[in-house]
Amino acid sequence: MENTTDKLFSDYPLIEAVLEALEKKGFEHPSPVQSMILPRLLAEDKNIAVKARTGTGKTAAFGIPLVNKLTERASKPQALILAPTRELALQISVEIRSLTTNRYPRITAVYGGASIGLQLRDLERGTEIVVGTPGRVQDHLDRGSLDLSEIKYLILDEADEMLDMGFIDDVKAIIDRANPDKKVALFSATLPAPIMKIVKEQLGETEIIAEDVPEREEILVNQEAIFIRGEDRLEALKRIADSTEKFHGLVFCPTKVEADEVARRLMEDGYP
Ligand code: AMP
Repeated sequence: MENTTDKLFSDYPLIEAVLEALEKKGFEHPSPVQSMILPRLLAEDKNIAVKARTGTGKTAAFGIPLVNKLTERASKPQALILAPTRELALQISVEIRSLTTNRYPRITAVYGGASIGLQLRDLERGTEIVVGTPGRVQDHLDRGSLDLSEIKYLILDEADEMLDMGFIDDVKAIIDRANPDKKVALFSATLPAPIMKIVKEQLGETEIIAEDVPEREEILVNQEAIFIRGEDRLEALKRIADSTEKFHGLVFCPTKVEADEVARRLMEDGYP
């Protein structure tokens, strides 16, 4: 993988279940953001605000320390991750789940536009990590279905997006409602004044990690567009899946009907 460092994940004080999961994922060397963040979050001694873009490996940078520490069943959530959209919340919960082979932590995603009943059931059953969008998290706090009194880690992912989407008051309220002894890690592609204000006024002492990050750090994601006729799309999708070893993918469709149809036909053709 380009743009990773010379260090190995096995050079860090990580438990076997995490090293095993990373090996399975094919992650060997940490990305620059990860090598900067991992030692700090593993030591958990201060709040951090990090300037990092999507695609630099930031999810694993905060996810690895969480799965490395939260290895036991807890009666209340130990970590909360706030993300601007439900797609991102889902993606984060799936990625973090893949970072350990341990049974714990349990991870629950809570976001708007989905049945609150299922989320209530998952929260009721118990979970160590909650990943959610600010509005729905506030909703659960108001209903009393989410208890942040024992939260040790609060992660604010894509803070500038949460600001742009008008979630800033929710985010501020959630910071105030969570356990005062938590450690906060804020990630943002940019660190504009309103975000720095939250850092100063609400987080207290925080290490800002901005200068060390290369301005145009090469990202770990390739984006490609392929133009094809509508009727060839499913066939093309299957070929892309076949051409990649251990393919994992997320397919977006314009309508519910089409999403059902694509899922059904893929399953019929042996793509689970
Ligand atoms: P993110 O910035 O968290 O969206 O991550 C971007 C992509 O890089 C995701 O697909 C990750 O699974 C992948 N990734 C993260 N860390 C590493 C690593 N150390 N080595 C290889 N791929 C990675």
